[in-house]
Amino acid sequence: MTKSLTIEDRTKRSRRSGAGPVQSNPVQSGIEPGRDCPLCPRLADYRQANRDAHPGWFNAPVPSFGPENARLLIVGLAPGMQGANRTGRPFTGDYAGDLLYATLSEFGFAQGHYDARPDDGMTLTDCRISNAVRCVPPQNKPLPTEIHTCRSFLKATFDEMPDLRAIVLLGRISHDSTVKALGLRAADVPFGHGAEFQAGRLRLFDSYHCSRYNTNTRRLTPEMFRSVFASVRSHLSA
Ligand code: SF4
Repeated sequence: MTKSLTIEDRTKRSRRSGAGPVQSNPVQSGIEPGRDCPLCPRLADYRQANRDAHPGWFNAPVPSFGPENARLLIVGLAPGMQGANRTGRPFTGDYAGDLLYATLSEFGFAQGHYDARPDDGMTLTDCRISNAVRCVPPQNKPLPTEIHTCRSFLKATFDEMPDLRAIVLLGRISHDSTVKALGLRAADVPFGHGAEFQAGRLRLFDSYHCSRYNTNTRRLTPEMFRSVFASVRSHLSA
């Protein structure tokens, strides 16, 4: 009979494979996938191909960014190929980060000048950023089984944030995976831009993803995005 693995088992197995905890984020600690996390074979193969093609890039599961005692967590989809997968910091280096970090700065969740580099000195206050899937997927499309597998790390991220009160969910995949991680009934919390749900002590805020495609097509405007974070700020200030 196959014994199901706990996240601790998986992390030990991942580290035994030669990977240690990722150290690129100065405030990151706790359970993070190792650099050679083997749990999604397709993504591990893609990672290796990217390491061969771009040896100077980060090319590993991207750790969460921001303090563990933050009250706000932002959950994206997955690292962008030329963004977080290249730089090692969520939403850093591609278009999505331009709008996200500008908006976080406007609402007091980020300080410093965002310069699309992990050493630009940008810091987060009362805010943390993570992804539903930690490894870059081909065509930016993770498979359902990969979303399911990486959910254990997403759940661990929630569990290691004792003061967590609000989660911004960027896009449907982030929404659906978070809803499952929290044990909620999907029918009770349908995705919709601007929708809010209370789940125990947590307030969930839905937003369309701040991708270049969504902003170019005006599915998401900067004003729509700001409106979500205005609601978050209002909620946390109440
Ligand atoms: S997506 Fe998550 S579970 Fe899958 S290989 Fe990467 S870190 Fe491991």
